[in-house]
Amino acid sequence: MSAIIEMKGVHKRFGKRPVISGFNLTVKQGEVMGLLGPSGIGKSTVLRMIAGLERPDSGSIRVGTAHIGYVFQEARLLPWDTALNNVVLPLRALGQTRWEATDRARHFLKQMELSEFEKVYPHQLSGGMRQRIALARAFAISPDILLLDEPFTGLDRGLKETMKQLLESALLDSNTDVNGTAVIHVTHDPSELLDRTNRIVHLEQQSNAQCVGACLTKAIQQGQPS
Ligand code: ADP
Ligand code: MG
Repeated sequence: MSAIIEMKGVHKRFGKRPVISGFNLTVKQGEVMGLLGPSGIGKSTVLRMIAGLERPDSGSIRVGTAHIGYVFQEARLLPWDTALNNVVLPLRALGQTRWEATDRARHFLKQMELSEFEKVYPHQLSGGMRQRIALARAFAISPDILLLDEPFTGLDRGLKETMKQLLESALLDSNTDVNGTAVIHVTHDPSELLDRTNRIVHLEQQSNAQCVGACLTKAIQQGQPS
């Protein structure tokens, strides 16, 4: 399998404070990666850099893809638009007709068990429902890469299980085009990892020449000696 994401020697500072230093990470096509690490270590920053929302100060990030689905730590829906339109808009931006986009958005909302709520606005929905809209939106664009930033955070145990199952079945469903998608699932909680995870990577802090103190420097694959 070839690499779809390659981060090499990445450095990132916020203001004067180095946060990530000499960091390497490779993600292969189609793999479901669990990216584990404590709060504040730089997980969200790594995802934002992969998505191109943040630039590294040095080092290289190669992302060989067209479509990236991104489920942010806080769902980040468009508050002024309905559940349906939140899923339709990115499809319209990709050039689909209103008819095509609506049809497709409905399919994914149905998969997330949200069909009855398509005309509802985000603020009228629970946190779990908003996260499911965010998942539907990310899936609908047939992403080559799916970035999931703590998608289950803030959900109660029951809802977490439901969402996990919806996500697992969507990843298995060949009709949805996310079959074969490379997934990076970021979490601080190993119990949240998907059953389909085929690689678990732990983020670790160290100090080095560029970073005195604690910086995200290492991605250690579970089961491998560091
Ligand atoms: P995680 O997602 O693992 O909790 P983050 O990537 O959000 O960690 O943050 C890593 C570190 O970088 C934290 O110390 C955080 O405070 C800092 N940080 C993240 N984004 C910014 C920013 N835009 N400005 C300043 N500091 C930031
Ligand atoms: Mg985070």
